[in-house]
Parts: sequence; structure tokens; C-alpha cells
Amino acid sequence: MKRVYFTRPLPESVADMAREHFDVEMREENTPLKIGQMRAALNLYDGVLMMFGDTFSSEVFREAQNPRCKVLANYGVGINHIDLAAARSAGVHVTNVPGAVTDATADIGMTLIMMSARRAGEGERMVRAGKWPGWNPTQLLGTHVTGKTVGIIGMGRIGGAIAQRCHHGFGMDVIYTARSDKDPGFPCERVELQDLLARADFAVVSVPVSPETRHLIDAEAIALMPRHAHLINIARGDIVDEAALINALQEGRIRGAGLDVFENEPEVPETLKALENVVLLPHMGTSTLEVREKMGRVAVENLRAALAGETPPNLVN
Ligand code: NAP
Repeated sequence: MKRVYFTRPLPESVADMAREHFDVEMREENTPLKIGQMRAALNLYDGVLMMFGDTFSSEVFREAQNPRCKVLANYGVGINHIDLAAARSAGVHVTNVPGAVTDATADIGMTLIMMSARRAGEGERMVRAGKWPGWNPTQLLGTHVTGKTVGIIGMGRIGGAIAQRCHHGFGMDVIYTARSDKDPGFPCERVELQDLLARADFAVVSVPVSPETRHLIDAEAIALMPRHAHLINIARGDIVDEAALINALQEGRIRGAGLDVFENEPEVPETLKALENVVLLPHMGTSTLEVREKMGRVAVENLRAALAGETPPNLVN
């Protein structure tokens, strides 16, 4: 039987499914693998189910050429933590779980839009701190969402699902950036990033991180946003220049922000935590039991196919 390693504990149903095909070893710690552990995993197992935080850099592969491991099954869609070229030259396939995460991550995008617009974090903190003086007509006045304009930066699976929710659920106008035109089934316009930032009431970052998109949203980009606008990031922390965002929020140059991801996760700058006008979530885009089980089923199927010599359904590399 092939040996497979899970780099973190996963829901039991996923482990059970994997045990139908493989001899499974599931790590008990929930921390990212260290470099030596990644090298060992490549040499000791036929396949590794790994995830965000396990940074399979070129350095990891340098000492593991043609290892026993033939497939890294990433438990997530973003694969920026894997050096794909190094994996390829070491003879290791990489797969991911694209469809499984779309709706849940779009839902977190909506959660952040609503929380940032309606100052829900501030309200919650006020109630919990025993500082709520009772209802009054000018308390915690937020931004109305229905009928506003959302700008989707990266109109792919998740960006498209957020656009659907905004259009059908909230009657919003949708503008977007992508490398190609999209037809979501309702009128919407592909625009340049600068145009999007200037027009959107809610700018939502849903583009993958890459050398082209790192710090795509920098001080200059944020300066284009109207003062009443909100910036939402559900993609990757490195796409937004966090220091520039903190400055803009401190100076009230935009109304608010909603972040599920950070530049140096799990570190979140104290200056960001000190601000009331930002919603901070701990990278929980896909965190529902159903979705984590579905991600597991897809990742296990990718492992099964790759180790059976078939083309895995979600081959990236
Ligand atoms: P996707 O379907 O590949 O969509 C990416 C979109 O970005 C596409 O519309 C693509 O345009 C566009 N794009 C890519 N590179 C671009 C560039 N250089 N300039 C402009 N547009 C560009 O990806 P997805 O499934 O929606 O996922 C997006 C990202 O979300 C992932 O990469 C991951 O990092 C993140 N994510 C986060 C969580 C979370 O828990 N917060 C969960 C899942 C995913 P074209 O379609 O024209 O190529």
C-alpha cells in the first residue's frame, strides 16, 4: 500500500476515506512544517497532503531530487507557497482543490463587506465591553450596501461568486478586473484597476498572488479610492501593502477595510489591531466542516489518481 502523509490533523471522515486507499500517517501538530520535516516527508512518503503554511521552496527540493514522493496534494486553491518549477524539476506533481472552496470563500467576502460597511466589529466590541448606552439615532452609522457598486479585483471563481451574491442579493452594480472578459449572466463591465478603485464603493481583492500582483494595492492605488470606500481582501496578504493600508485607515482616507489574510500571517501588526475601522478575520475563508471535508475528498482523489498513474483531476503542475 502507498504511504501518504497528512501535514496537519484533518476531519476524521477525510482520514477514513484516505485509509481506503493508503497507509495514512496524520501529523498531530497544527503548525507549519519546518524545512527538515518537508525534506523528510518528500523522502519517506509516496504522497503528501499539505497546505498553506507548508512552504515547499526551492531550498526544500534542492536536497530532494527525484524523491519517493510523487505528488503534493495541496489542501487549498492558492499554491503560492509551493515553488512549482522546483517541484517539476524534482519530478513531483502538484494538485489543488479549486472548486471546493469557492462558495465558502465568497461567503467570507460578503461577511467582510457587511461587517466593514455596518461596523459590526465595533458594535460587538461595544456590547461585550458593557459600553452600549442603548439605542440612539446616530449610533454607529455605517455605509448602506444595497444598490452600491462593487469592484472585483480578479473575477475568477471566487470573485465571480462574490459578484453573483452582490448582484442578485444586494442589487449592486459590478465592475471588475481580469485578464479576459467574463459573462456572469448580468451586465457588468471590465475596467482598468485604476478606474475600478476610483469608482467602487467596495473594492474586493480576489486575485491570486504572483510577482505581478504582489503589492498591487499599494499607497498609490489606495489613494485612488474615494473616502467613503471599503477595501476587502480575501485572497492573500501580500497583494495589499499592509503598511500603506494602515496609514490610509489611520488617516481616514478610506472608510474601512475587511481582511481575511495578512502579509505575515499569523502576525497581525498592533497598529492594525488598534484600529476600529478594520475587520480582522483569521484566514477563515474555507472554514466550515462541510467545505473542509469536501476539500479533503478532492485532495484524496487527487492523491489516489496521481499515485495510480492517472492524471489527477486538479493537476497544477
Ligand atoms: P481563479 O479562479 O484562478 O481566479 C483568479 C482571477 O484573477 C481570474 O479572473 C484571473 O483572470 C485574475 N488574474 C490572475 N492574475 C491576474 C493578473 N496578473 N492581473 C489581473 N487579473 C489577474 O482563482 P480563485 O479560485 O477565484 O482564487 C483566487 C485566490 O483566492 C486564490 O489564489 C487564493 O490565494 C485565494 N483564496 C483565499 C481563501 C481564503 O481562505 N481566504 C480561500 C481560497 C482561495 P483571468 O480569468 O482572465 O485569467
